[in-house]
Amino acid sequence: MKYTDSHCHLDDNCFSTQLPELLSQCKLRNISRIIIPSISPDNFQQVLTLTKQYHQRPIELFCTLGIHPWFLKHLTLNDLENLNQLITKEKHNIIGVGEIGLDGATSKHAAQFGQTPEENFEQQQRFFEYQLDLANKNELPVIIHHRQSHQHIVPFLRQYQLAKSGIIHGFTGSYQQAKDYLDLGFKLGIGSSISFSRAKKTINTVKRLPIESLVLETDAPSMPLSNEVISPIDNTFKQNNSSKPPANSPLNIPVIFELLVNVTGITPEVLANQLEDNVNKIFFTKDSTI
Ligand SMILES: [Zn+2]
Repeated sequence: MKYTDSHCHLDDNCFSTQLPELLSQCKLRNISRIIIPSISPDNFQQVLTLTKQYHQRPIELFCTLGIHPWFLKHLTLNDLENLNQLITKEKHNIIGVGEIGLDGATSKHAAQFGQTPEENFEQQQRFFEYQLDLANKNELPVIIHHRQSHQHIVPFLRQYQLAKSGIIHGFTGSYQQAKDYLDLGFKLGIGSSISFSRAKKTINTVKRLPIESLVLETDAPSMPLSNEVISPIDNTFKQNNSSKPPANSPLNIPVIFELLVNVTGITPEVLANQLEDNVNKIFFTKDSTI
């Protein structure tokens, strides 16, 4: 069995000193591919460099370029034009556009990111639309961030009818919300949310969905697993370094997979193969660039 972490911020500083060791540990645990989305112009070069430097050393790394709705404060249309040019230039080194999206609950992050959704929702929509256009123009799939925003995202996706669809990252929501995305050809990223027994709505939704619609992700170092499950990362990092381990790591993928085996009731081998097929369908079809 092999796994793909379809969403991991591996360029985060918390991983930098231990990256070779972490990637070796991933290989040992059959995590054979990691997809690294960018979040703002500040980390475009970082994700590109990291991906080129460590691809197949010893596992496969891929990246996507895009601007996340949390990081728009000092950005202008100029930044989108730069992204347009960078995507053209790096077309053969990226596999998608992301992480892009709409966030209706950024008030939580207003202190950190300087804007509430009320203040910047128009700007969020402008950036989202521009980047959907970029994806279409370049025939690339998208990785979409959502929070309290399904009702805004779905109409955009219906309008744009993307050539390559993509992933709804960190999916939480109802069966009907999930169904809206599946009808548009999207897959849903399943991560730590199913480790929380209180996340009954999402767990019940995932139970009802066809396994052809799911992919695994950690969103590391964000979105740690619930304390209700045991994570292998503490031990791994303790062996190597006395510093505090990151809150989440791609090494948690097999834990999320086991949870998904329990939720779906599907045999591990069958589920693992299907999840890999699903990633392949979105990112690595015949005309894929890497
Ligand atoms: Zn993310």
